[in-house]
Amino acid sequence: MNFGLSEDEQFMLLAMREAEKARAVGEVPCGCVIVKDGRVIARGWNQVETLKDATAHAEMLALTAAEAAVGDWRLEGCTVYVTKEPCPMCAGAMVHCRPSRVVYGIPDAKGGACGGWINLLDSNPPLNHKCETIGGVLGQQCLEQFQSFFREARAAAKLRKQQQREQQALQQDESAN
Ligand SMILES: [Zn+2]
Repeated sequence: MNFGLSEDEQFMLLAMREAEKARAVGEVPCGCVIVKDGRVIARGWNQVETLKDATAHAEMLALTAAEAAVGDWRLEGCTVYVTKEPCPMCAGAMVHCRPSRVVYGIPDAKGGACGGWINLLDSNPPLNHKCETIGGVLGQQCLEQFQSFFREARAAAKLRKQQQREQQALQQDESAN
């Protein structure tokens, strides 16, 4: 299975599978898995709308699940795989729970906090945690997953508007008669 893919790419595929769960319920498709000793110990997908919680990013949910799985807040020896470069909140959380590696798909030059916009994971004093950070793993596939979500969302919004216009036109016809 997945012949020819590197280990990082194989785990990123699993993160993309989590992102698919977000997309299935209309959430922005971001997914995350956390791996220790070659085994997935936690998963998470973006649930900001579902939970009505702006902090419910895929990484935050996965980090909490990983802490529960290892029974410690220290995630040394763990690798975080996430389909998009973590934001400052998630990178900040990673500083606190100290995974050894962070691997992401889509780089985010506007808001990414792992080197895209800023880098919180590169032993910034006083944060003082250094993670190995690798970006662009299956970046193109992750980007397509994102873009197709926004394409579909735009098409759905357009359809809704069109139906509203038709409804209004019908009501005007009825009141004219
Ligand atoms: Zn985030």
